[in-house]
Amino acid sequence: MDKNARIYIAGHRGLVGAAILRRLQSEGYANFITATSRELDLREQAVVRDFFAAQRPDYVFLAAAKVGGILANDTYPAEFIYDNLMMEANIIDAAYRNGTQKLLFLGSTCIYPKLAPQPLKEDYLLTGPLEPTNEWYAVAKIAGIKLCQAYQRQYGARFISAMPTNLYGPGDNFDLEKSHVMPALIRKFHEAKLTHAPSVVVWGTGKPLREFLHVDDCARACVFLMEHYEGADIVNIGTGSDLPIGELAALVKKAVGYTGDIVFDTSKPDGTPRKLVDVGRIMALGWKPEIDLEEGIRNVYEWFLAHVNMVESQVRGMC
Ligand code: GDP
Repeated sequence: MDKNARIYIAGHRGLVGAAILRRLQSEGYANFITATSRELDLREQAVVRDFFAAQRPDYVFLAAAKVGGILANDTYPAEFIYDNLMMEANIIDAAYRNGTQKLLFLGSTCIYPKLAPQPLKEDYLLTGPLEPTNEWYAVAKIAGIKLCQAYQRQYGARFISAMPTNLYGPGDNFDLEKSHVMPALIRKFHEAKLTHAPSVVVWGTGKPLREFLHVDDCARACVFLMEHYEGADIVNIGTGSDLPIGELAALVKKAVGYTGDIVFDTSKPDGTPRKLVDVGRIMALGWKPEIDLEEGIRNVYEWFLAHVNMVESQVRGMC
């Protein structure tokens, strides 16, 4: 990528998009195109076509998505499938029509079959039924992958797809109803510490295994793939190691400095039993993660402490 290339980051205020923007800025890129969801409704085809015709980005990072944790996915299936399908279809087609040189589509590891062998290799895509709690989101993301592959195959478009594992980092969603497990636990343990609550409730059995990647590592991988990868096959982004949710809870408890108990609420869903990606493909290309989990949790807790007032007003605004 030329340092003066016009780079559109769709979803630049989200967890991943913001990290990609920070990363590109730190590498000396300066010619960014961004628009908030209020300024540009990516679900509207005509609006997206006009935007691309006017802006003509050279590179597109497609990090805009309707995202949420296990409960949100299960509660808003229509929005999770419709919004994501519309956004990705509109952006991918508009990028093709307006001469975008290269596009990176961000998917998720929930595209893999629920009971696929672990670690999840890229080849396991579409080999079995999905995890029901997030199949709406997963089906939309699979359609995004197929759109990139179809435009690549029919038109020779350089549209590639990456599948990050569970991400966490500064700027995450800390709303307990909608968030993923990491920000939820950081907030729960923090509040329990302040109120001297005797215990913190962790959803499910604590046994499901999850892999966690700091979003700054993910952003480095996205920029790396944009610069070095041209294939039609998807590429996993992860750390290659996982841990049970119960152990994650213990790590967050330690980082926050909470001294009470952990109680598991088994009336809440566990979701998929394990979701560890095989990172052989991206590592063979020359990328590897740099932020270790305990360091990453401390980093996000520091961010949370510095932004706790903002987080609380955002959460109130959402309810
Ligand atoms: P998933 O990876 O798509 O299942 O999404 P989540 O990050 O929402 O959940 C991961 C695992 O953490 C699931 O087994 C949840 O039941 C468990 N978990 C434990 N406590 C919480 C919590 O407070 N919030 C969320 N979102 N998940 C939790």
